[in-house]
Order: sequence, then structure tokens, then C-alpha cells
Amino acid sequence: MGAANERVVYMDNNATTKVAPEVFEAMKPYFTELYGNPSSMHTFGGAVSESIKKARRQVANLLGTEPEEITFTSCGTESDSTAILSALRTYPDKRHIITTRVEHPAVKSLCENLEMVTGNKYRVTRLKVDSEGLLDLEEYRAALSEDTAIVSVMWANNETGVVYPVEEMARMAKKRDILFHTDAVQAVGKVPINLGELDIDFLSLSGHKLHAPKGVGVLYTRKGTFFVPFLTGGHQEHGRRGGTENVSSIIGLGRACELAAEKMEEENVRVKALRDKLEQGLLKSIPSSMRNGHETNRLPNTANISFEFVEGEAILLHMNRYNICASSGSACTSGSLEPSHVLRAMGVPFTAAHGSIRFSLSVYNTEEEVDFVLEKMPAIIASLREMSPFWEKKG
Ligand SMILES: *Cc1c(COP(=O)(O)O)cnc(C)c1O
Repeated sequence: MGAANERVVYMDNNATTKVAPEVFEAMKPYFTELYGNPSSMHTFGGAVSESIKKARRQVANLLGTEPEEITFTSCGTESDSTAILSALRTYPDKRHIITTRVEHPAVKSLCENLEMVTGNKYRVTRLKVDSEGLLDLEEYRAALSEDTAIVSVMWANNETGVVYPVEEMARMAKKRDILFHTDAVQAVGKVPINLGELDIDFLSLSGHKLHAPKGVGVLYTRKGTFFVPFLTGGHQEHGRRGGTENVSSIIGLGRACELAAEKMEEENVRVKALRDKLEQGLLKSIPSSMRNGHETNRLPNTANISFEFVEGEAILLHMNRYNICASSGSACTSGSLEPSHVLRAMGVPFTAAHGSIRFSLSVYNTEEEVDFVLEKMPAIIASLREMSPFWEKKG
């Protein structure tokens, strides 16, 4: 394992990101100097309250919305749960939820629990995707019903980077008076978002996918949308979420949102070029490899590549010897040999889904790192294939 002073080539930014140095600097005073409780009456706490207000403005600016519509939470998962459960409590007579087959576990597991724990009181429609990971809007239109309480569709997929047409889908839901939530954890900072012009009621984001710390998130709730808190308690967050604020992380997230706006172009030009170089290089130099996910309708930082007839986890172990960090789409670690639900939903063949690797870049990656990965990968795959009975049969 890489010691702290060893070089690490980190290409697992959809799992988590490094805290930006600017973010860390902004946070520091809030541990040992400005440690007041923002709810306190004294000026010492009041100063902290002012800083949180500033962070709320910084988040709102990135999303093109108003500070009153921003609620700080503990993570993306909490934001997702809060939005969906709020909608169900707002419309107790409506029992239908529409989502997709490719959601992050934060939404996927909640929907499964809602079916199971309530003895199928709730009905969940999970929209299909095609082989490139795209949704069929006609299937969606047909699924919208009088009984639908909420639609929850991710803005961008964490495994493939495929971007979904949430603007249009929210418009379609609004026409039927149905609430619309989007898990935008992977989209924020990578695609432009201007909520002021959209029909989206709820949007979730997470600090640690955006170069802010782990353990802080945001739920945007459109002005005028009914809201039922998930965590009740004190009057923090305008009564929308009880619990003393995670002050330093909130300050960090505000700063991270400001940086994300500044770096969006770099993400979409330089990082995208690095991603493309990596992807095209791998596909060219390694036989029986393929991209998972639509070529252009995709985040600029994500490349999900299948290397047929080898195990993703074995590939990761070999990459780990060079301190190259990425993720695999097969989940042997979770005790199942099932490949990821996202790749299965796309109908990726078994032999390819098992050998899928997700590379996810950030503004901190360099061309030298991409070249290093391109240099190492062909031999890694070739050596594993030499041991693979499936590959021999093929050859
Ligand atoms: C990481 C992630 C989440 C969960 O965010 P946490 O802050 O880790 O709870 C939810 N949705 C997507 C798409 C993610 O990538």
C-alpha cells in the first residue's frame, strides 16, 4: 500500500476526492478559533452564523438559485433520503415512485426498503436503460401517473458518467404536478447547473465528491415545495434539519462550490482531454476492450472500460502495485459475484462486466499520470489473460 510519501496516481474521484488546499485553509479557523455554536446569542457564535450564511450563498451561486433553498445535511445519502421521504409524507395518498435501474445505492436501497418494509405499500417503477446507458423518455412518460408522488433520477451516473436529461424529465413531471428529485452528486462541478430556470424540486449534492470534506452535503428544495424534515430537533437550517451544524465542513463546502465554478471550464477542457487520451489509448492498445456508457452524453472525467475475460478485482490489485487507484464494476468484495447493477441494466455481457474498471479523473490529474497508466495497463491485462481459461478458449 502506498505510504503517504509515495506517489499515488489517483483516478478514483467518483468514489471520493481530495480536499482542495484552498478548502482546507478556509476550514482551519473553525476548529480552534471560531468554534462558537452558530445558534448562540453571543457575538462569538454569531460570527460563525454569518460564515454559514456566506457558505449558503456560495452553494446557491453554483446552482443558480437562492440561499433560502439550500439546506446543509450530513451527506449525499441523507439528502437523497430526505427528499424522497419528504415527498411521500407530503402526499400520503400517493404510493408510486419512479426511478431508474442505474441509481446509486443511496436511492436504490431506499426504494427497495420502501417496498419491503412497508409490505409493498409503495410501488416503484425502475426505468430501463439501453446498451449505452440511456433512458427511454417514452417509457418515462407512460409511467407518470396520478398516483406518482415523486420521480428520482440521477443527473449523472457514478459508474459510467452517463448524463441524464433531468431538465426535460422534470418539466414532464411538473406538467403532471409530480415532484422531481435529482441525485446530482456526480454532476455538480462537472456540468453547468442553473436551477432557477428548471422545474426540479429537490437536488442532492455531496461535499466529498467536490473537493470538500466527507460528511457534509446539501439538499436544494425549490421555494414553494412542501418540505417535511427527516431529522427533527432544534431550529437549525430554518427548521429543516435538526442538529448542530458541521460548521467547518459547511465552510469548506461553500469554498469548494466557489472553486468548482472557477474550475468548471478546466474540468470540461483539460480534464476531458486527459480522459479521452486515457480512454482512446487503452481501447487502442488492449485487445477485447470496450467503453461502457454513451460516448458523448457523459461526464468529462469518467471512463468505464471493460477488459474482457479478466476479473476487475484482479486488475485493481495489479494496478495497486503501481499505486494506481481506480474502481471495478464487479463487487466480489461485497460477497456477491454479481457485476454492478448499472452494467447489468445496460446488458453488458457477463465476461465484459466482470472486467470493468472505472477511471475517474479530477483537476489534480496530469498528463504524465495518464501516460504512466497507459504504459502499465497493457502488460497488466495481458498477464492476467495468460492465466484466464476463458481467454485461452477464445484465442
Ligand atoms: C457518492 C454518491 C452518493 C452518496 O454520497 P455520500 O455523501 O457519500 O453519502 C450518492 N449518489 C451518487 C451518485 C454518488 O456518487
